[in-house]
Amino acid sequence: MGAPVAAAAAAAWGTRVDELITPFSPSLARTTAAAAEDAADAMKSCCVCLDAPREFAFLPCGHRCVCHGCASATVAAGGATCPVCRAPVQGTLRIYG
Ligand SMILES: [Zn+2]
Ligand SMILES: [Zn+2]
Repeated sequence: MGAPVAAAAAAAWGTRVDELITPFSPSLARTTAAAAEDAADAMKSCCVCLDAPREFAFLPCGHRCVCHGCASATVAAGGATCPVCRAPVQGTLRIYG
């Protein structure tokens, strides 16, 4: 007598758990991935023009924070300071990868 009722309850519970898990997992994963991507983009963009990729480090402090154009402009201007730590810039170094 009790067996069919228990089986039905177990089936109903199983369905309910699936319904709870399915809508949450994809949306959570999407939000986390998007946030990580935004942060990664911000880390990779030149801190002067916020557009081109960071390819050059300032010397001697070693902060890789500028693109080719901004590195050239900074050195050409003379007497510039690193936008990250304000150390006097004496040169630039191209970073690969
Ligand atoms: Zn730049
Ligand atoms: Zn620096």
